[in-house]
Amino acid sequence: MDPIAAAAEALADCTSLLVFTGAGISTESGIPDFRGPDGVWTRVDPDEFTYARYIQNPETRRAFWRMRADSGVLTAEPNAAHRAVVDLWRAELLVACVTQNIDGLHQAAGLPAQSVVELHGNAHETFCVDCGERQPTTAVLDRVAAGDDDPRCSGCGGILKAGVVFFGEMMPRRELMRAAMAAADADGVITVGSTLSVFPAASFPIEVVEGGHPMVIVNRGPTDLDDLATVIVDGAAGETLPKLVARLM
Ligand code: NAD
Ligand code: ZN
Repeated sequence: MDPIAAAAEALADCTSLLVFTGAGISTESGIPDFRGPDGVWTRVDPDEFTYARYIQNPETRRAFWRMRADSGVLTAEPNAAHRAVVDLWRAELLVACVTQNIDGLHQAAGLPAQSVVELHGNAHETFCVDCGERQPTTAVLDRVAAGDDDPRCSGCGGILKAGVVFFGEMMPRRELMRAAMAAADADGVITVGSTLSVFPAASFPIEVVEGGHPMVIVNRGPTDLDDLATVIVDGAAGETLPKLVARLM
């Protein structure tokens, strides 16, 4: 059977779907993933970007802001896969979209903020690590472009950090709780564009499976949880997810 038809059949009785997304849902919007063949980790050493290093080392901060300016995360547009998730929400089939992405593209596609759980934060906002003052990241990048390569808080002089979770940094407690509640309420899960290898994020689809519910994996290439999948759809999310969603409505 065609995998999309098989996936639709596996999810046919579901009315409360958890959609779990990773970097692969945004590659068709022009944002590189981390672990795919052209992923960021083929060029950048992840050990460089720990929270401790960022705070201690001005060179790490300079490298971070340079990378942010080049990454396209702040200027990308949502694609057909992001819009398909919105279609599920409109059809009242979505419990929540739990994402590891920091690009804000689910909301840009039209998903209301209360239906999106951002486990790893959002790159569009920047915070002062000392006083907590918040500002748009674009305003900080304007300063970087003007030559201020390690920009500081204009209020207190503290280090500025984008609102994304670094390696070695705590994940936002409220978002973890919201994801756990969504996983507990779900009667099926679709994962999209994730290697399902980053924990605790990947524990949420596992929780749905352990509740006895189906899991459809939409991904280009293998994931760490392929053995738990009811059906695997191997292909580009922007092509396959809209077809799958159309069959569920
Ligand atoms: P990952 O990089 O580990 O895996 C992405 C997976 O998606 C790979 O298996 C890749 O082959 C697949 N893929 C790539 N393009 C695809 C497409 N068009 N259709 C279907 N599949 C496709 O990503 P991850 O599991 O999300 O973990 C990476 C971590 O990096 C996350 O924690 C996230 O916070 C962060 N990250 C976020 C962004 C973003 O916000 N867009 C981008 C890069 C990394
Ligand atoms: Zn400050």
